Amino acid sequence: MAEVLNSISLTKSEKSEFLMLNLLKHPLLTHKLAILRRKETTTKDFRETLDEIAGLMAYEITRDLPLKDIIIETPLIECKTQELAVEVVLIPVLRAGLGMVDGISNLIPTARVGHIGMYRDHKTLKPNTYYSKFPDNLPGAVVMVLDPMLATGGSSSAAIQVLKDNGAKTIKLVCVVGAPEGIDRINKDHPDVQIYLAAIDEKLNDIGYIVPGLGDAGDRLFGTR
Ligand code: URA
Repeated sequence: MAEVLNSISLTKSEKSEFLMLNLLKHPLLTHKLAILRRKETTTKDFRETLDEIAGLMAYEITRDLPLKDIIIETPLIECKTQELAVEVVLIPVLRAGLGMVDGISNLIPTARVGHIGMYRDHKTLKPNTYYSKFPDNLPGAVVMVLDPMLATGGSSSAAIQVLKDNGAKTIKLVCVVGAPEGIDRINKDHPDVQIYLAAIDEKLNDIGYIVPGLGDAGDRLFGTR
């Protein structure tokens, strides 16, 4: 039976390598991820559950967002309080990343949303961008790249590079399930990027699927298979 890692116990030297890896642990995340993994889960339930997982993850991922002091008036009196001091940009990687947008933008309604689509060139096997459209506030924003599956890490790494080339400075990669190969790839290519996962699975199979995983996230989200 395949194993799924929901908590990590690392040696000191391993820890320094994985400083940018955040494995989010919560009973609700584990429970909902089991729903995504089940092969019987319908498209409707898959879509709703992925959204819920993205929202739960966003709650943790935004824990370190800076706040600034503001003065407002309540119906009773003027008072000093705080609000977010940064803008958030969501970049779903097409197409499965789309399934994480609503869950996060429900919590951060001011977040602007860009899109990026990657395909793998059959000859070079390298990921190429076939579509990109970003808001103009990338340089000052906290940019969350959304892709439910961190498999080889090739398309996530390429998407992050495109965002950096367009001025993004603070990038968080938000995936649901990750494979060790993908984590290593992002750590190597983009050591400045924080990775957030709800589970680390055992391995990739010979056609690049995460095992045990949940299958093709895009197909399950849109009912295309
Ligand atoms: N993309 C998916 O949708 N699933 C995998 O297992 C790997 C990549």
